[in-house]
Amino acid sequence: MDKWEEMMKKIMAMPAEERMKRIELSKSMCICRSCPSYRGTGETELLFCGTGKSTIISKEMGCSCGLCPVVAHMGLTRLYYCTRDTEAEQRGVKI
Ligand code: SF4
Ligand code: SF4
Repeated sequence: MDKWEEMMKKIMAMPAEERMKRIELSKSMCICRSCPSYRGTGETELLFCGTGKSTIISKEMGCSCGLCPVVAHMGLTRLYYCTRDTEAEQRGVKI
């Protein structure tokens, strides 16, 4: 089991309220706003790695996820979550 799988197991076992707090904390750490694929698109959502694709961003102009603290915190392994969907979807894992 890798770090992301361990973290997901831990998070899914949390009460809903605590899980929501974790999501908000991760959103506050998300650096998508500084990314070239995000800037100027009108997108306001964040945390695509956990909550799913953007309905607005469609062009991949570079991805800043590799610089984001959520990557190390959650054990993320993919990129372009805004266009390619969540870590779970990109791994083909159903949650
Ligand atoms: S990994 Fe990417 S999508 Fe996820 S919080 Fe960080 S910048 Fe946002
Ligand atoms: S998921 Fe990656 S490509 Fe998309 S906006 Fe966030 S940092 Fe940029």
